[in-house]
Amino acid sequence: MKPTAILINPWVYDFAAYDLWAKPLGLLYLAGRLRKSGFTVHLIDCLDAYHALMEETPDMKKPVRRRYGTGKFWKQNISKPPQLSTIPRAYSRYGITPQVFTTALKQTKRPEAIFITSLMTYWYPGVFEAVHLAKHVYPDVPVILGGIYATLCPEHASSYSGADFVISSPSHFWPGDLTRFLKKNIPDFAPEEKLEAFLPYPAFDLLTKIDYVSVLGSSGCPFRCPYCASSYLHPQYTKREPLELFEEVLFWHREYDVIDFAFYDDALLVDADTHISLFLEKIVRNNFNLRFHCPNGLHITYIDQEIANLLYKAGFKSIRLGLETADIEFQKRLGRKFSEGEFQQAVEHLKRAGFTTDQIGSYVLIGLPGQTGDQVAETMTYAGRMGTMPYLSEYSPIPHTAMWKEAVAVSRFDLVSDPIFHNNSIIPCWDGDVFEKVSTLKAMVKEIRDEARKK
Ligand code: SF4
Repeated sequence: MKPTAILINPWVYDFAAYDLWAKPLGLLYLAGRLRKSGFTVHLIDCLDAYHALMEETPDMKKPVRRRYGTGKFWKQNISKPPQLSTIPRAYSRYGITPQVFTTALKQTKRPEAIFITSLMTYWYPGVFEAVHLAKHVYPDVPVILGGIYATLCPEHASSYSGADFVISSPSHFWPGDLTRFLKKNIPDFAPEEKLEAFLPYPAFDLLTKIDYVSVLGSSGCPFRCPYCASSYLHPQYTKREPLELFEEVLFWHREYDVIDFAFYDDALLVDADTHISLFLEKIVRNNFNLRFHCPNGLHITYIDQEIANLLYKAGFKSIRLGLETADIEFQKRLGRKFSEGEFQQAVEHLKRAGFTTDQIGSYVLIGLPGQTGDQVAETMTYAGRMGTMPYLSEYSPIPHTAMWKEAVAVSRFDLVSDPIFHNNSIIPCWDGDVFEKVSTLKAMVKEIRDEARKK
């Protein structure tokens, strides 16, 4: 008989959360591979905005969903963890209720293994709750915890999560030591011998509704920004065959009528001529009327007129540029990825291609160690003046990054002892009247966006 596995995408516990093309891609890749290895796979997605049982849950406001598959999650206000009690903001559990989660667990045939993923390090309370409830329903089933938090903070996860096995492995596709664990614990497990990146496709068909599909044209990033953990999580920069990517997009479109696709690439435009442009040209030639989005941001330096035209014609609807900061000195500290004038030029190329101001967003970093509110304000103003929509991107200190030591040294919180303090909403590396500063900057960014929209 086929072994059964339950895969869990846990809750987000935070001050704010929004579904901006946020799907557990690694977990869905794992689901695809487990299925190929003979498992019957069940997914419990705590962030499922369409969960049937939630419709019957009283006193819950249905999450508003917006265009292109983005939108709100189910949300319940809960008490702040004691460590965050002084933060002047409400704290919530985003996702289905624990009751619905438990019911969904019980409705599944007893599994041979339960896999739980994790994302942001400071969302671990949601992971712990999922482990706890899974263990409560199936006390003798091994719970395997993987994902970003488990990889970045393995000691914390092993000590406190309650999982039987913590996989600290940098891979979207199949964590290194998982085969060993499964062979030991599940006698029926017959591993697929040939492991290929990007295959089998992530199991989006397990979701209640496929609003959009997240795709990868590459994995990893050739850059080494000091605040980013990409190179730790994905040490290899691997590019995918453009034709294979095209086949996957076509598969989801043909079989499941998917129109929206979100690229999760960290470096989508690197070597575009020999890579992503070939994919885009094929999309343009076939005229499918698909929509593409790039929530992770694009590298400014690679946007010339040709690529801007291709992005537009292929159906990109939301462009995000990694502006970071307009302060030249600060840019140098961040690994300066574009030179003066290149931002303006990139925006001009995009506009000439047909993109409108409200389709071009610029990510502006806020909360970096040593950064001032004035630097952020100047960057937002610059982004607006150049005809883009500035979006604040709050810095989260991440272990194993080049900036981590500095973050630990300047933070008003003990970042090392508890990942809960990595939360970007608390701006952990600024001090003084932090929340006042941030709310002034947030009001300002909104004004700049409103102004930019009128142009
Ligand atoms: S911030 Fe972006 S460009 Fe820099 S290393 Fe990370 S993924 Fe690469």
